[in-house]
Order: sequence, then structure tokens, then C-alpha cells
Amino acid sequence: MPLPPFPFDNSYARLPEHFHRPAQPARAPDPELIRFNSPLAEELGIDVNESDEHELAAVFSGNSLPENAEPTALAYAGHQFGNFVPQLGDGRAILIGEVIDQHQKRRDIQLKGAGRTEFSRGGDGSAPIGPVIREYIVSEAMHALGVPTTRALAAVTTGNAVMREQPEPGAVLTRVAASHIRVGTFEYFAYRRDTDAIRTLADYAISRHYPSLMFEDQPYQELFRAVAQRQAELIADWMSIGFIHGVMNTDNMAISGETIDYGPCAFMDQYHANTVFSSIDAMGRYAYSNQPEIGYWNLARFAECLLPLFDGEKEKVVETAKAILGEYREHYNSAWRNRFGRKLGISSLTQEDEAVVHELLGLMQQIGSDFTATFRELTRLAHQGNVQEAAAALLGDTQQARDWSARWIALLDTPEAMWQANPAIIPRNHQVEAAISAARQGDLRHFHDLMAALEAPFSATSDASPYRHPPAPEEQVARTFC
Ligand code: AMP
Ligand code: MG
Ligand code: MG
Repeated sequence: MPLPPFPFDNSYARLPEHFHRPAQPARAPDPELIRFNSPLAEELGIDVNESDEHELAAVFSGNSLPENAEPTALAYAGHQFGNFVPQLGDGRAILIGEVIDQHQKRRDIQLKGAGRTEFSRGGDGSAPIGPVIREYIVSEAMHALGVPTTRALAAVTTGNAVMREQPEPGAVLTRVAASHIRVGTFEYFAYRRDTDAIRTLADYAISRHYPSLMFEDQPYQELFRAVAQRQAELIADWMSIGFIHGVMNTDNMAISGETIDYGPCAFMDQYHANTVFSSIDAMGRYAYSNQPEIGYWNLARFAECLLPLFDGEKEKVVETAKAILGEYREHYNSAWRNRFGRKLGISSLTQEDEAVVHELLGLMQQIGSDFTATFRELTRLAHQGNVQEAAAALLGDTQQARDWSARWIALLDTPEAMWQANPAIIPRNHQVEAAISAARQGDLRHFHDLMAALEAPFSATSDASPYRHPPAPEEQVARTFC
């Protein structure tokens, strides 16, 4: 049976040998398709027979690699919870190749959970079905919410049992990414003082993600600036929808500016600035409100890698890097004002007026308001007659709530914009967990239903979705595991 042709055009595999290692997907004894993303396949120019689930399962488990696939595991290092680890690498993920999509963009296709590689260390190279379902749901929901993200092309079970706290069905997620270059990829070579490799990687990243910078006088400084700007925008996006990444290690920060490596991530229900879901984040390093400053910290690690490429005297060069880091903070603050201004129907929220957002979040934290539902409800209220009283009532009807409401109404000038800034639905953690539990028992209906519900988060139809509701107290899921 001929395999479906993928229009591969592999470039990372052409980079020097020490950037990657050959890898072969382990054989899956009994692959079965969980889900296939046909609109994405079409965008990628992948022409598979969708009605043949058997063939899809064979391809996306790694059992039948398409012609011209060049399976490799990528080398990278990284700071994990602040501690440097000189070698991490793809220990459970195999890049099978790159395609140029319909928009002429180069995309990586990677099998996550397809078996051991030279970077697996003590790990089994496998992924249990739980994290695969979580990444599928959340990454596709992020895309629907308009946030830059890696995508999910397919998920399959392998027929293997994977040992975690209990045995779990093994699964493979096919991830699509603008690239898999991480801050940690640069750190890998910086640790080895391999300046040639850093330059090769920086040139590659520029040509792939920031091609206009090739012609700059100081292309590497501009690369740093561009990556910092995209991270500022990305993290402002996360903050605006209550998303908590959970493991913002430097190996989980992509140079492309996409959200990558969905582990114990979650969306917050009740607003609280210090919300943490990840079971492994005991100190709350990656709590909701820490995310922008962790972005800064990670970018400082990136700068340290690039310094040898910057022209000029050491001191001068360090000053330049610091200045760009300072710009990151400003860029983030203005991106945040922009997002939250839109959420409140304020067309240009100035620094002087941004207290209106902080006060609202403070009120929400006091009374335990649901983040998503409150902003969507304010959107609805902004389009009715007695908005000021109604908004005050929503926030507890205290003097403080009434004062806030009056201040908001004085600034509110673009209520229509609020519909596209405040989703009706997000992948709520209790729904994600329920979909995972059912999938573990072989029942995929909840997963597929939830995926359908998350397709158009800003549309009026989502205001009627049964999946939009915050959890009842007994339904709350406070911890996530990777
Ligand atoms: P992550 O938690 O996905 O950011 O992964 C951190 C590092 O651990 C990466 O180098 C992964 O490849 C590696 N890793 C995570 N899980 C496994 C596993 N089951 N087998 C081998 N390596 C793994
Ligand atoms: Mg990772
Ligand atoms: Mg990961």
C-alpha cells in the first residue's frame, strides 16, 4: 500500500550534525486513531485518505513514515525552574520533517510520544493519553482564541501501556510548529562555547522567522529585539484570557513566538493573581501574575547566549542587551493595556487610566468572580440600558463596585469591540479533566464534543454552550499533572 505523500522540504536536518540525532519511532503494537485535524492537514498540503482510519493511525503513530521523512531528535538545553540543565533535547518527540504550507510558511511536523531517542535519559519516550488529549484540546482552543500556538494534527493510541502512577494507555500527538527552536536550543551551544553554532542557529532562526532582519546592520541584536517583542505580545495574550502555561522553562519558550509545550497548563476559573495549577510548581514560580516577569528572565538567558554575536565592546554590548530587555517590559505593558482596554471596550487605555483594570481585577479577586464569565457578562451589559447599575450588581453591589462601575462607564467608548476580546468559552479545566477520564476508559465522546464547543469562542452560539459554565464547587480541579 503506497504511503500518502507529504510535501517534505526538510531544512533543520541540513544543519550541522550536532544540532540533531537520528531517531526512529518505536513500533506501536496496535495503533488506533483518536482524532485527525483535516482543516489543518489541508492547510499543510498533506493529502491523506481521511476515510482510512487504519492508515491514519499507522502514519501518525510513526509505524509507516511517509516517503522522504527524516526522523530526528533535536538537541537543546534549558533552565528548568531556574536551574540550568546542559542537555535536555527531544527525549520523547521525533521531528519527521517540514512542509511549506498554503501560506508559504514552513512548519515542523513532530510525533510526540513516539519512543525513546538519544536524549531520553531515564525516560521512556512515551506519552500517556491524558497529556495528549490535554495538549490537543488546549492548543486547538488557543488557536481558535487567536493566540499564536503550535497545533495538533492528529492523536492516536499506540496499544502500549505506559507506566505512570498507574498504567495508562500510551498515545502519540502529532504536533505542528512554526519551528521547534527554543531559547534552550541557543543555551545548548552557549554552554559548549560553540559560537559558530550559535551564529548558524541565529542565522537559521532569522531566515525562518524574521527574514527582514537579514539586511540589518546588527541582525543579532534585532533578532533579540524581535523575539522579545513577540514574547511580550504572546504573554499579554495569555494574561488576557486567563491562561497559565505552567512550565515556562527556557526550553519551553519558542523563538517563533508560539505557545509551545502544553504540560500542566490550565485556564483559571475564579480570578486570583497567584493561581497555580501545576502539581510540580510548589513555589508558584509560574503563577498567573508571574508570567510576564518570567518572560523577562527567560529573555535575559537568551541575551546571554547571543552576546558573543553582538558587535562592540563587552560593556557596550551588555548595555544594549539591557536596553532591549527594558523595551520588553514597556512593550508588554502596552500590549497588556491594549488587550485589557479592548476587554473593557476602551479604545485607547492610557497608563493614567489603567487603574480601572487593576481595580476591577482586585474586586474580582475579593469576591471570587469567574474570570471568563465576568468579562463576557460585562460585554453583554455594555450593550443594555442600565449598564452602570448592572455592572455594579455583578461585582457585589458594594460602594467600591458602584464607584468602579461609574469610572468604567466614563471610559467605555467601544462596547462592540468587547465581543471579540472576551470569549464566551474557554477549555475549562474540569471539562478537560472529564474528557481525559472518559478517554482513558475508551470513551472519546466528551473529547470530541468539547472540541466542537471550542471552535468559535467569541460567537453568540458559544453563549449557549453547556461547556461554558464555571465548575460547581465540587467540580473544581485545582491541580494538573504533566
Ligand atoms: P517537558 O516537560 O516536556 O518540557 O520536557 C522536559 C525534558 O524532559 C525534555 O528534554 C523532554 O524530552 C524530556 N522528557 C519528558 N518526558 C519524557 C519521557 N517520557 N521520556 C523521555 N524524555 C522525556
Ligand atoms: Mg519541553
Ligand atoms: Mg513537553
